[in-house]
Amino acid sequence: MPIINRIAEFHDAMTEWRRDLHAHPELGLAEHRTSSLVQAKLREFGVDEIHAGLAGTGVVGVVRGRDPGGAIGLRADMDALPIAEETGLPYASQNAGVMHACGHDGHTTMLLGAARYLAETRNFDGTVYLIFQPAEETQGGAGIMVREGLFDRFPMERVFGMHNWPLATQGNFLWRDGPVMAAVANIDVAITGRGAHGAQPHLGVDPVFVAAQIISAAQGLVARSKDPIEGGVLSLCHIAGGHTYNVIPETVRMMGTARWFAPAVGDLLEHGFVRLASGIADSLGARAEVTYKRNYPATVNDAPTLALARRAAEAVAGAARVQPMAAPTMGSEDFAFFAEARPAAFILLGGRAHPDDAMVHHPRYDFNDAILPVGASYWAVLVEQMLPRGG
Ligand SMILES: [Zn+2]
Ligand SMILES: [Zn+2]
Repeated sequence: MPIINRIAEFHDAMTEWRRDLHAHPELGLAEHRTSSLVQAKLREFGVDEIHAGLAGTGVVGVVRGRDPGGAIGLRADMDALPIAEETGLPYASQNAGVMHACGHDGHTTMLLGAARYLAETRNFDGTVYLIFQPAEETQGGAGIMVREGLFDRFPMERVFGMHNWPLATQGNFLWRDGPVMAAVANIDVAITGRGAHGAQPHLGVDPVFVAAQIISAAQGLVARSKDPIEGGVLSLCHIAGGHTYNVIPETVRMMGTARWFAPAVGDLLEHGFVRLASGIADSLGARAEVTYKRNYPATVNDAPTLALARRAAEAVAGAARVQPMAAPTMGSEDFAFFAEARPAAFILLGGRAHPDDAMVHHPRYDFNDAILPVGASYWAVLVEQMLPRGG
């Protein structure tokens, strides 16, 4: 079965909703217009219940089948990024400095498309929870929804997520067993030395030199302390200190990111980095304060749940277009919080139409509207396969 015909019939309508969302992007936890629009659409489609207010702007729509049965959750994210759009499209962002550069406008639209079809046809038994979550990018809206009782209020056996992927051919699905997206930590380092004349380093403690030792040693941690078979990376991405040719500054600040899959690697990176930064600074007569904040856990697919996701994807796209990923990605996803709470499957839907299409988080990226009915059909087929009539 390819794309569901009834869903193909409202491809134009979905394209309109998606471009409207694209023109009006909103940052995490501030998706007020988006949330209102989602609620209005769900009401228009005749969804049975609409629950607003989870994690502020989050929305859960409930669609009941013809008879009682199991329950599953389908998730879309709604937030945009602090990026100035450079696409020049007629429906480009009208909100300066904010852009739907990760395709969450498309994710929201695909789940709305599925909602319309499911509410109209109800070819299933049981309950579908449509989860529209805020703040995926950095604030962990999924974690907030879980802490606010998402799974107590809406008891579901499994939960499913999907992300568009411009590196893969449009309409192809990519899957991976086990860890699929990395865990992430944000690292802040404040090094305090003692300022001096650049010609008289012996009268001060040079925090720039200390920072250099910490940067080098951090890569030793990844290369020499971590099992080389295990995935893990630590990148110091920002450094600031001093302002001119001949003044040794008093302080240097650094920011960085760590990514990993196995919990033991996460512990090694955290404890190892804190120990070496403070130890190196201390041994050189400076002081380093490290704030190491774990943000999202790894997104781990549950094998039986992933098998169900693959079966649905194969029904929509054909088996040849549902492909295993060669490796997990070091990108992160707050869907991880849902996957910690319930058996879950997170898959990627290819969006590439041309070889030079921009990747997500790029100012010239745009969600590919051609895949709207593919994603919406995937959700609908997943429901009809998992919650069959008379099942
Ligand atoms: Zn993103
Ligand atoms: Zn995203």
